Amino acid sequence: MYCTNCGNSVDVNAIACMKCGANPKIHRKYCGNCGNSVNDNAEVCTNCGVALPSSMHAQGSMAMGQKDWLTTLLLCIFLGEFGIHRFYTGHTAIGVVQLLTLGGCGIWALIDLITIITSSFKDAQGYPLYKK
Ligand SMILES: [Zn+2]
Ligand SMILES: [Zn+2]
Repeated sequence: MYCTNCGNSVDVNAIACMKCGANPKIHRKYCGNCGNSVNDNAEVCTNCGVALPSSMHAQGSMAMGQKDWLTTLLLCIFLGEFGIHRFYTGHTAIGVVQLLTLGGCGIWALIDLITIITSSFKDAQGYPLYKK
């Protein structure tokens, strides 16, 4: 298949594009089936006719599990030791463990903070955090 963010050819099982680092299945700039560049508002690929993934940005809602990057960052900075950013992003089980261990004595919270700052943090559904 092709990365739906940059059109690069990616393995069908890949969870991140080697070229742009995005989840290759959730964007709709390119057709995942043929790599054709598609219109942001198109429902199907104009080249091969496959249905495109529903656009999170077009819907403008949190329905796809998109969590706000800045909110997650602030929660991690101020309440990271209690795993609140984990609860916010849907990682409830990890959040409970972080709460009980005070963020792995702060180290775990620090690692999460770095992951959030570098934009590699994913929510429980595997979607990257949404930056406004
Ligand atoms: Zn890509
Ligand atoms: Zn196509």
